[in-house]
Amino acid sequence: MTSVPRSRYRTVIVGAGIVGLYTAYHLARAGAGPTLVVDRGFLSGGASGRNGGGVRQQWETRATIRLARESVDAYRRFGREFGFNPWFRQGGYLFLAENAAELERLRTVHDLVRSEGLPSEVLSREEVALRVEGIAPGAAVGGTFLASDGTLYPFPVVWGVYEAVRSLGVDVVFGVDALGLEVRDGTVVGVRTTADTVATECVVNAAGGWSGDFSRRCGLEVPNVATRHEIFATEALKPFLDPMVVRPSDGLYFSQTVRGELVGGVLVPHPTGTSTGMPSSARFLTVMSRALVGLIPRLAPVRVLRAWSGFYDDTPDGFAVIGEDPRVRGFVHANGFGGHGFMLAPAATRRVAQAVLREATDLDPTLFSPARFLVKAAPSVAERLQLG
Ligand SMILES: Cc1cc2nc3c(=O)[nH]c(=O)nc-3n(C[C@H](O)[C@H](O)[C@H](O)COP(=O)(O)OP(=O)(O)OC[C@H]3O[C@@H](n4cnc5c(N)ncnc54)[C@H](O)[C@@H]3O)c2cc1C
Repeated sequence: MTSVPRSRYRTVIVGAGIVGLYTAYHLARAGAGPTLVVDRGFLSGGASGRNGGGVRQQWETRATIRLARESVDAYRRFGREFGFNPWFRQGGYLFLAENAAELERLRTVHDLVRSEGLPSEVLSREEVALRVEGIAPGAAVGGTFLASDGTLYPFPVVWGVYEAVRSLGVDVVFGVDALGLEVRDGTVVGVRTTADTVATECVVNAAGGWSGDFSRRCGLEVPNVATRHEIFATEALKPFLDPMVVRPSDGLYFSQTVRGELVGGVLVPHPTGTSTGMPSSARFLTVMSRALVGLIPRLAPVRVLRAWSGFYDDTPDGFAVIGEDPRVRGFVHANGFGGHGFMLAPAATRRVAQAVLREATDLDPTLFSPARFLVKAAPSVAERLQLG
């Protein structure tokens, strides 16, 4: 049976996805005392090993743009810092507009992104056709593009951070399920697991799509909802596509990897919650293939090699949940990252580590704090540009 090396840690992180591991990295670098990461599955078994690798800075709010921008800088230096090549390729992100109203909406995002100092561009129909070779005539009236956005391979990133934290003395244990908190006088004193009860003053909920399940195991109601998203990869094609392409109307997104495969998905609704597991559906294959071939007809003969799915951890306002839960001292949230946890992880987890260390962060609490869901008011700001 799996065991935990010590009986007491300063911090226990639940979830060894990119969020849990990167949080452990910042803590270890800050000399934050003994840290344990527990995961009931295997490395890359959650969304961190199932995503499209998209990294973009085009968002509807300044708060997200700034976290994404800092993360892009982190991924640019990742190879030097961690000794693993994440194959971060800055081929840009291209949002397609199918009509004038969509182009207007994208133009608003573009204006905000530019006001943050990032050289986003508005593309004409002809400029879109130059960047998306073979696009069907009339498929887009224009679009927006930011050249420093891009894609990476999630696996070397997860492995790189995993190896780094272990060499910094963090214990990472797989096959251990976190069952709930031990709380005394409203303060965390331990975490119950299938291996043992571990004494600690701080538990971080970095359980991704299962974060709502874990909070509820701890007796805390949260609004996080797990939604299943499907994705596929085709056979490798001769390189023809630089940017990640996103179509907001149906959530279609796809990019071409450095190996030549097309990797992408489209919105196909599924029942919410984690109880269904992570299967693939024939319906997704049909909807995705039709969407892709409708956009670029010459892709019709291309064969699909693999399809899989994973959970987004969605919040009502589209912002992540970062910080201490006001109901239990020492219980810190690092979840609710929806479909963009990978691209925000390096920057967002720096703030998680600050929260663990009880340092002030520069995050707006009205957007990120778990306390925002404890007041009965509709969110005043929302981050809705969720896909791709
Ligand atoms: C199809 C798809 C495409 C996506 N595309 C992108 C993209 O292009 N760009 C991007 O930035 N993001 C994308 N995302 C989102 C991104 O993958 C996630 O936001 C991110 O990986 C979340 O990381 P995490 O560490 O929070 O969660 P995860 O990687 O899911 O890790 C959570 C871990 O917690 C463990 N766990 C859960 N409960 C417990 C428990 N009780 N005890 C112990 N362990 C537990 C799980 O086993 C799991 O390993 C996509 C997601 C999906 C599903």
